[in-house]
Amino acid sequence: MRSKIVAGNWKMNLSQNQAKELCKEVNQLTIGSSIEVYIFPPMLYVSDCNANSTQVKVGAQNAYSKDSGAYTGEVSMLQLKESGIGAVLIGHSERREYFNETNEQLKEKLDAAIHHGIKPFFCCGEPLDIRENNTFLTFVKNQLEESVFHLSATDFSKVVLAYEPIWAIGTGKTASTEQAEEMHAAIRSWVEEKYGKEIATNTSILYGGSCNPSNAQALFACENVDGGLIGGASLKAADFSVLVAEE
Ligand code: PEP
Repeated sequence: MRSKIVAGNWKMNLSQNQAKELCKEVNQLTIGSSIEVYIFPPMLYVSDCNANSTQVKVGAQNAYSKDSGAYTGEVSMLQLKESGIGAVLIGHSERREYFNETNEQLKEKLDAAIHHGIKPFFCCGEPLDIRENNTFLTFVKNQLEESVFHLSATDFSKVVLAYEPIWAIGTGKTASTEQAEEMHAAIRSWVEEKYGKEIATNTSILYGGSCNPSNAQALFACENVDGGLIGGASLKAADFSVLVAEE
């Protein structure tokens, strides 16, 4: 059976002391018995949060596909592994938009994460114009085809998918439960076409985009939504506590 996952993406927020404090707080929350919780702090704090986490898992928001070399400013998947970090976000829309990450580069990152045994949380999702011109299913399918669906069935089974409509990220606009379920069901059907029913049933597909304590229950109750990737609401333990308690 697939895991229910609630993951907090702290983005480039928090001072070192605030990150330490939030890490402590999320490790003391009451977590629903069927939920796995991850936090993705800024890179500088990842190791410290990892060392101080008892009940939540800790990942990086990004890493590079090459193992080492003259890539100033980058951190490799290999270095994450050697630092004991077990998860990574790949393809967040902010990486795609502000750092021009392409489907081809994300494919290489995904391969590197899998190669080093780091759990990839692969993000996909359409911008507003694509939503409005009704080509969002084709758009997201293409993202998956170009970056993910080359994986073998064994490797694909290690991936968590996160559907994050860009128009809903950090905007306060959330996808309706119908919009979320339509996309999640479509994603699961493409996974089934490619990898078969068992793998499709076991794939966790998270929703992300202005998820908060007042809308999470309805979104997480959708048949094909297996939890959430949470930005703003993961920065306050009181808000995050409501999300991680949802069964
Ligand atoms: C995110 O950054 O992945 C995200 C979903 O952000 P927010 O919850 O703030 O919309």
